[in-house]
Amino acid sequence: MDAFLVPLTHAPPSSVPALAASRSRSLAGSPGAVLTAAAAFAAARSARSAKRGTSRATKGDEIKFAPADSGDDDVEAAELPLEQRAQALAESLPALARLRGSVVVIKYGGAAMVKSPERTIRDVALLGALGLKPVLVHGGGPEINSWLAKVGIEPKFVRGLRVTDADTMEVVAMVLMGKVNKGIVATMGAAGVPAVGLSGVDGGLLQAKKVDDEELGFVGEVTGVKKDVLKAALDKGLVPVVATVAADAEGNFLNVNADIAAAAIAGALDAEEFVLMTDVPGILRDVKDADSLISEVDEGGAKRLIDEGVVAGGMIPKVTCCLSAIDDGVQATHIIDGRRPHALLEELFSTKSSGKQGTTISKC
Ligand code: ADP
Ligand code: MG
Repeated sequence: MDAFLVPLTHAPPSSVPALAASRSRSLAGSPGAVLTAAAAFAAARSARSAKRGTSRATKGDEIKFAPADSGDDDVEAAELPLEQRAQALAESLPALARLRGSVVVIKYGGAAMVKSPERTIRDVALLGALGLKPVLVHGGGPEINSWLAKVGIEPKFVRGLRVTDADTMEVVAMVLMGKVNKGIVATMGAAGVPAVGLSGVDGGLLQAKKVDDEELGFVGEVTGVKKDVLKAALDKGLVPVVATVAADAEGNFLNVNADIAAAAIAGALDAEEFVLMTDVPGILRDVKDADSLISEVDEGGAKRLIDEGVVAGGMIPKVTCCLSAIDDGVQATHIIDGRRPHALLEELFSTKSSGKQGTTISKC
């Protein structure tokens, strides 16, 4: 295991203490501000490393990991006056103290990833630098669709799950475990936080069997999570970044819905928080009306929303897997808009008074 982890030399673990030392000078804030300022710091650091010659590794059609000095709003936030940064950091102490050392499983959906993915990835890196234990499970739907189109395959979905024939599985494997996973790891490394890219295949992380549905093809159902490989990475101060391709007992690749895989991982690790980042503000009563957000719903209410057809398509696996994560003992589950700048930080550091965004699904 150590031999596997050691070669991550582009961002040695020693950079974490340096980041910790620097952040005590730079971070601060009001509820959202801690976060904004903290993210600003990470962005500024990343911009510096870009200038030193650290280049982004990915130039895809769909998911583009822009350098931190590309003019997005993170860099503007880096101009926050020092006293505001200090205030943001100071005001975040209760949340930081509560979450210190906690496992937070974040599913970053492909739909949200199309918009400024580097910003969210740096926010996850920041959580690691602040002493939380983030695990990032990612999708890559639009990127997969883009590559399917290049080879003349039409994407098809049933109940929010991708119909995966043998050719589609090849593309899913290459895109998710290759370009998307390593692009995220490289972006996090450039932000000064070491990450390790994994898939469900590595170390047998996701145990899976083919679903009993001929129509779906090579879609995997999670039968277990081998958390050792994740724990080993977390113990070394690495952020695990997980692509949700698994292998069956015969060694065939299976495509596992990333929401479902993330929930299984959250349950296995007894995560404190489980956050799904997607391309809508949360569960909407009317999917065409962004103002119809349902902020809080309990287990029974969430099941009713599925039965009534309010929750449909790709939102179905999200809601059902929040419910299963709660059953597995996860304390809080959230569905948030991954396109919103620093939505992840806002959700984790929100207080009752700070006007939280997104949907929280909680135990009855
Ligand atoms: P991801 O890549 O994040 O998994 P998906 O496309 O699989 O994204 O799932 C999110 C989609 O679910 C939304 O873009 C929306 O079209 C759909 N959806 C269906 N019902 C709802 C609902 N009630 N509220 C919000 N989104 C919904
Ligand atoms: Mg989805």
